[in-house]
Amino acid sequence: MIEAVDRLVSALAKLPGLGRRSAERIALRLVRDRGRGTTADLISALQGLESQVRLCSTCGAMTPADRDPCRICTDPRRETRSLCVVEDPSDIASIEASGAYQGRYHALMGRLSPMRGEGPRQLRVEALVRRIGDERIEEVILALNTDAESESTAQWLASKLAALGVKVSRIAYGLPVGSGIAYSDPVTLQRAIAGRMRM
Ligand SMILES: [Zn+2]
Repeated sequence: MIEAVDRLVSALAKLPGLGRRSAERIALRLVRDRGRGTTADLISALQGLESQVRLCSTCGAMTPADRDPCRICTDPRRETRSLCVVEDPSDIASIEASGAYQGRYHALMGRLSPMRGEGPRQLRVEALVRRIGDERIEEVILALNTDAESESTAQWLASKLAALGVKVSRIAYGLPVGSGIAYSDPVTLQRAIAGRMRM
């Protein structure tokens, strides 16, 4: 393979969700679109990312590079005694877009995954424990994903945090809007029923 292509493929293949095959397809597309500005757009977007964005050192959300702690962590109108724990910074953006939560956040930056060699040390758990003490947090709301690894991460975290004397709750998982009862898997239905609310 030509060296420039090989370098790009190796760099892309390190990204989550992109295997070598997808990386090669992207590289081929960029070579084919040469001269149309696609590469230039990509270069400038990547440079912008490098210089203009960082992760909030407190909660882990994406924030402008010159604003750390982030807008959420420094907003005096937000409720200060609860923390919503998520896996990734993008989850914070999704919950914010829903407008359903007024407290602050803490991104773990992943989940326990023995398969990928990710244990408690790879997650921002120590920082979470410190925040619970420093910020006198009364409730931690776990908003992790719903697959097996996230589920065991939630269980592990819940027992660790309960030992600190903080109230631990988790969001109820309902049925996706637009889907029917008949198409829902048993775990989703169990959670939807367990998380029912009075009407
Ligand atoms: Zn923050």
